[in-house]
Amino acid sequence: MKSIYFIIGLLAFLGACNGPSTENKPSEETVTMETMKEKDIHSYSNPSQVVVKHLDWVAEVNFDSTSIEATAILTIDNLEATENLVLDINGLSIASVVLDGKEAATFTLGEHNEIFGQSLTIPINPETKLVSIKYTTDPNAQALQWLNPSQTAGKEQPFLFTQSQSILARSWIPLQDSPGVRFTYNAKVQVPSNLLAVMSASNPQQKNNTGLYEFEMKQPIPSYLMALSVGDIVFREIGERSGVYAEPSVVDKAAYEFEDLESMIAAAEALYGPYAWDRYDIIVLPPSFPFGGMENPRLTFATPTILAGDKSLVSLVAHELAHSWSGNLVTNATWNDFWLNEGFTVYFEHRIMESVYGRDYSEMLASLALQDLKSEIHEMEENGQSEDTKLKLNLEGRSSDDGMTAIAYDKGYMFLRYLEEQVGRERFDVFLKNYFTSNAFSVMDTETFLTILDKDLFESNGIERPAALYEEWVYGVGLPEGSPEPTSNRFEEVEKQLGKWQEKALLSDLEVDAWTTHEWLHFLRSLPENLTLEQMAALDAAFGFTNSGNSEITMAWMLHVIANGYTPGYEKLETFLIETGRRKFLTPLYKAMLEKEDGKTMANAIYSKARPNYHFVATNTMDALLNYTSK
Ligand SMILES: [Zn+2]
Repeated sequence: MKSIYFIIGLLAFLGACNGPSTENKPSEETVTMETMKEKDIHSYSNPSQVVVKHLDWVAEVNFDSTSIEATAILTIDNLEATENLVLDINGLSIASVVLDGKEAATFTLGEHNEIFGQSLTIPINPETKLVSIKYTTDPNAQALQWLNPSQTAGKEQPFLFTQSQSILARSWIPLQDSPGVRFTYNAKVQVPSNLLAVMSASNPQQKNNTGLYEFEMKQPIPSYLMALSVGDIVFREIGERSGVYAEPSVVDKAAYEFEDLESMIAAAEALYGPYAWDRYDIIVLPPSFPFGGMENPRLTFATPTILAGDKSLVSLVAHELAHSWSGNLVTNATWNDFWLNEGFTVYFEHRIMESVYGRDYSEMLASLALQDLKSEIHEMEENGQSEDTKLKLNLEGRSSDDGMTAIAYDKGYMFLRYLEEQVGRERFDVFLKNYFTSNAFSVMDTETFLTILDKDLFESNGIERPAALYEEWVYGVGLPEGSPEPTSNRFEEVEKQLGKWQEKALLSDLEVDAWTTHEWLHFLRSLPENLTLEQMAALDAAFGFTNSGNSEITMAWMLHVIANGYTPGYEKLETFLIETGRRKFLTPLYKAMLEKEDGKTMANAIYSKARPNYHFVATNTMDALLNYTSK
């Protein structure tokens, strides 16, 4: 738990940088357990004084004007009989505000900030229960991506999807946009009658004639899990409580790819207790979706780039499913605690994969994660960003997106694996199950978690905690000494085959028939950086890398294509970057181009064609990387 001095220091800083408002800060006399918690530096809202408990959302989705016209009716609990409800908005045009269904209210808008948006302050009474806000979203709303028919698989209907994490929900719904605030919701959404709408809620499984759909989310969720998708979407059942949504031409491929979904849910429940969200469905979105997946409750949003045809990239599904516990059930209190969401989720992902596909398999994933982590730490250190290699972040005045690095994911994973190795799996599993059961539907900050760890893992098992454990792992930079070393026999075999080639064996003599995507990735990552054009051509001829339909293999191969100036791969590189908007692929590929002498021209030429296909989350990162300014 942080001291009040820390909070005041933070607020003073925010005042200076025009970040979220400080005017509603609690006075020292009114500090309660809740307000003692660190203030969310990425939100203007005042949930310690008045908190949103429920949202009724009535909306009309308009593809012609690329906007949503909506009314958000917030049920509030005025904890401290405060005079103002402060919400987060970004780019919303507010038409009117009504209190308790009758009283038109005034409202004021704070100064607009590029990262945080602005505050919407609504005067309320101590008795006010309902606050209705009528508004329209901006055509450039950051969470929303409006796709033309040509950007979809079917090429005939437009498509809309949202991506609210981390602080983009405020660009389509006025809310207390902080992960520390949970609310339930109901929604009524009107879409064109030939399209289907789905949300992070109870969902329809087929279109109706009216285009009006109703949704209910009974379990309280934080704002970053608000999600909506509208398009020519159909549903296929996978198991009793699982299924997949996608465009008609994609849905069967997706249903095949996710065949093992029920076994994954069963494995997850065996590890961490009952699944709390009723159904678990997945929607496969068009390729411009900026992430691999987004754990919107009841309905994971996923990139089509995981449809490899051989189920080899389904660990992403295990990851999003794992978020049903870590993140969605127990949620990081602020984005400085992001590792609590992602580190646990990567740990769970590997445990689910181990239980469904074996240790052999999950150790390949762990080895790849460690490689990613080491290279990201190295890069961050070189760029003077060592502070960001700590698990507990300090994102004062910065975008919460800056915390979405391998640190939260893979260093977080390594820390949990380290704990498991220290106390033994049996004890660690008991601790984890208990932790998720006792903290279900609540928020967690790093300090509270460490207190629980002390008590329920170390003390209760009579184990002494290593004195420097938290200083090294949570508050320290880089990867601590003695960190876990995944061992993969299958990767050792890959290295042996690679060695044979380097000792002049023919590529056709390598034993690669049983290799999965992960072994190929390890092979590609282990190749020397500098290859001759003859070697590149030989590799391509033997293994067909340029024409691979597997997005991970394409990405790993394209790094060699760029580094070695292998022109036969350029056309594929360009189409891949134009069609795929997944940031995980974009960042390394554009960076690799920038490292080449004439690469900037190439990167800019491709980016100018590709940018219209990317979501804000991706353009925000790429604009900065490429110094792009819209003219
Ligand atoms: Zn995740």
